[in-house]
Amino acid sequence: MRRSVHFRFVEEIASVLSEQYGDYAHGNKTNPLSELLFILCSLQTNEGLYRSTFSSLRRKFPTFQILADASEDEIADAIAHGGLSRQKARTIRQIMARLSHDFGAPTLAPLRAMNDAECEVYLTGLPGVGKKTARCVMMYSMGRDVFPVDSNCWRVCRRVGWVRPTRPDKSCSPRDMNRVQSGIPPNLRFSMHVNLVSHGRACCLPMAPRCETCCIQQYCRTGKIKLGRTLGKFSGYALGQVSRLARARNP
Ligand code: SF4
Repeated sequence: MRRSVHFRFVEEIASVLSEQYGDYAHGNKTNPLSELLFILCSLQTNEGLYRSTFSSLRRKFPTFQILADASEDEIADAIAHGGLSRQKARTIRQIMARLSHDFGAPTLAPLRAMNDAECEVYLTGLPGVGKKTARCVMMYSMGRDVFPVDSNCWRVCRRVGWVRPTRPDKSCSPRDMNRVQSGIPPNLRFSMHVNLVSHGRACCLPMAPRCETCCIQQYCRTGKIKLGRTLGKFSGYALGQVSRLARARNP
């Protein structure tokens, strides 16, 4: 039987992050299909740009049926400023066609009657939809207690010391995603996800984490090592000064 995991200090970290960032939901949507389109627009794009790309898509195609009837070129035009527009337009077209085929209309409403495992299997069977995107749709717009692992969550979880990547390139595999999800109690998953995204953007930056001012530094393995080194350097310098003074007084 698989051993259940419970990450060290998970409740403490969730509480500190919640106080620091206020469970901000990052503009995500309550309608599952809107959320899926929002995430597709966000791929490989910065936040300001994908928000405006999604707005432009919804302005040009105000209903899902109008979007489902649009051509790939028309969709690509509407999202052109967000990057990868041709690839995203193709994916959107294919998804709208699949939903129309499966449910008789472009909608994800029937997923509300499915359990978590069924939802995830259905969503990851759609073109261009992986585990992270599926869990975002389920968590943000269907209130499911799942944990999507985006690049910010993955980076902080590794630095804190909760997980080690199983892939040589250190990217997050589907197995890693399941391990991370299982280490976070279901009732903390939403707040932990949204606050780790905020923390990864504001403080635990990819290249230069701001450990000195980090609100969860006392719980973080990387932070302790990094600050320990800084203190070590400082105390080495201080000891040098003291011995230099002592030598000056007692030559
Ligand atoms: S202490 Fe540093 S590495 Fe750890 S979470 Fe904070 S910023 Fe990231």
